[in-house]
Amino acid sequence: MNRFVVTSAKELSVEQKKKIAAELKTELSSVTFAVDEALIGGIVISNGDKILDASVRGKLDSASKKIGKNLEGHPLDHILKELKSEFRSFDGKNEKINAGIVRSVSDGVIFVDGLKDAKVSELLLIADKFFAMVMNLQEGVVGAILLTGMTKVRAGDFAVTTGRIVTVPVGKNLLGRVVDPLGSPLDGAGEIVADGYRRAENPAPSIFDRAKVSKPLYTGVKTIDSIIPIGKGQRELIIGDRQTGKTALCLDAIINQKGKNVYCVYVAIGQKSTTVADVIKRLKEHGAMEYTVVVSAIASDSAPLQYIAPYTATAMAEAFMTEGKDVLIVYDDLSKHAVAYRTISLLLKRPAGREAYPGDVFYIHSRLLERSAALNEKCGGGSLTALPIIETLGSDISSYIPTNVISITDGQIFLESELFHSGVRPAVNVGLSVSRVGGSAQCAAMRKVSKGLKLDLARYREMAIFTQFGADVDEDTKEVLNKGIKLTNMLIQPQFRPYSMPDEILEIYLTSAGAMRDVPPGKVRAKLDEILYKIKSEKKELVSSIEETGALSDENVKILDEIVASIKEEI
Ligand code: ATP
Ligand code: MG
Repeated sequence: MNRFVVTSAKELSVEQKKKIAAELKTELSSVTFAVDEALIGGIVISNGDKILDASVRGKLDSASKKIGKNLEGHPLDHILKELKSEFRSFDGKNEKINAGIVRSVSDGVIFVDGLKDAKVSELLLIADKFFAMVMNLQEGVVGAILLTGMTKVRAGDFAVTTGRIVTVPVGKNLLGRVVDPLGSPLDGAGEIVADGYRRAENPAPSIFDRAKVSKPLYTGVKTIDSIIPIGKGQRELIIGDRQTGKTALCLDAIINQKGKNVYCVYVAIGQKSTTVADVIKRLKEHGAMEYTVVVSAIASDSAPLQYIAPYTATAMAEAFMTEGKDVLIVYDDLSKHAVAYRTISLLLKRPAGREAYPGDVFYIHSRLLERSAALNEKCGGGSLTALPIIETLGSDISSYIPTNVISITDGQIFLESELFHSGVRPAVNVGLSVSRVGGSAQCAAMRKVSKGLKLDLARYREMAIFTQFGADVDEDTKEVLNKGIKLTNMLIQPQFRPYSMPDEILEIYLTSAGAMRDVPPGKVRAKLDEILYKIKSEKKELVSSIEETGALSDENVKILDEIVASIKEEI
């Protein structure tokens, strides 16, 4: 029988030597011990031509041979390629690479033993081919979330630090594509050639890089553009119960960007696959996919992927913004994002707080939404406008996650089931909805018509409460109610029919000026369509003047008043 030769990176203690001999079922005297620093860690046992390599060097060598093979074409492939050469040149003194062993795996969360020098958010390479992101650093153990190989990583797998954080492909080639949160195509339309790579997490633009929110971002939805206007660079929350038209509103906003030189990113987080498929179909039908990237982490995707999706999608959007582009991003929705984070946190054994969410759930949303900005000219003048969606239960906007996100954003659009079911769609509760910065981005004409509209609607809401009790009402009140009903009807808008800015202004002006006074509520829509058609064909200069100047000149007001008078006479 050949002698056993045990080679280790460092001199072994007598105890360790005895233990090894016992494991090998042989006498201590029949084992030769050697030291080879090049092994970095672990041991190599040889017996004749049989070799058992349990050294770090051996693992790294096999890793550098194997890695990359299973992930060719994957967005993280470029990291693997760099790692390969790093592994080969690794001499054990270089602190960059550290090795450990996966101790446990559960629902995409792993604990790794023996990693000496991991950093939060750093990527770990597991079993030569999978990636995990470090979340928890505790003494002797590191908690991480799996980004790839969700069902394939096993306890006992080898894990090494990579010194890198998650990066995603960015650039124009992403437009029109559906990708997963790491940027891999999901639409089967071939590889995406990236212009570059960008980190998933980036610091928000500093105060000195920002400009005032001063340009309007038209959604094509009358209620919003007039009463709750959104400016480029603003964060406006869309909040409401299930099935109140939240997604529909954001889709309309995306569709309305056609021809306006705005890129869009739609991130689905924890949505049903049918919902996402429908969104993509609608965007394609309306020619909006050409300028949109869809990032999808559906309900059946793991919690880590759902958690990382908004950050990587924002990185893709930011890349456009830094090139001076205007970008609109829709997060659909952040309630499910918070739930995914809660799942991860509980699996990582972090202490649970209110509603079982971890204490830092506010921070995950604030650091995400702070990345939206209007950049100043020095920084290229681009902007990132965010429309985060939050789903409420029983219209309760005072529960934990809604209050958090309300306090982070620059305003909220509150959608109500009751309004939705009574046919007022979009079901915007104009009393509870606000836009804290968008008003300064409105054009003069819109500001002019919306001022009256807000007052009229507020007065109508107040009066409508009294008349619910069947009280006798005087002529003035009747007038207020009539106007309110007509305005509400004017604001009703079907899905996928965005209005141009001049059309919105014309409808609001005409209705506010009383053109619909004697038209039955059910006929308001048809009548307005008829008048608008007439104005657009007969008074082209008026429409183009509003479009170009963004203002209502006295002359144009006079023309419109004449039209109102003639409609009243007609009826
Ligand atoms: P969920 O909570 O399931 O995500 P949601 O709040 O996103 O729902 P949507 O899916 O956008 O709601 O809309 C619900 C339904 O209402 C859809 O069938 C949609 O077509 C319809 N809908 C939305 N807005 C309008 C509208 N303005 N006019 C007519 N129908 C609409
Ligand atoms: Mg939805």
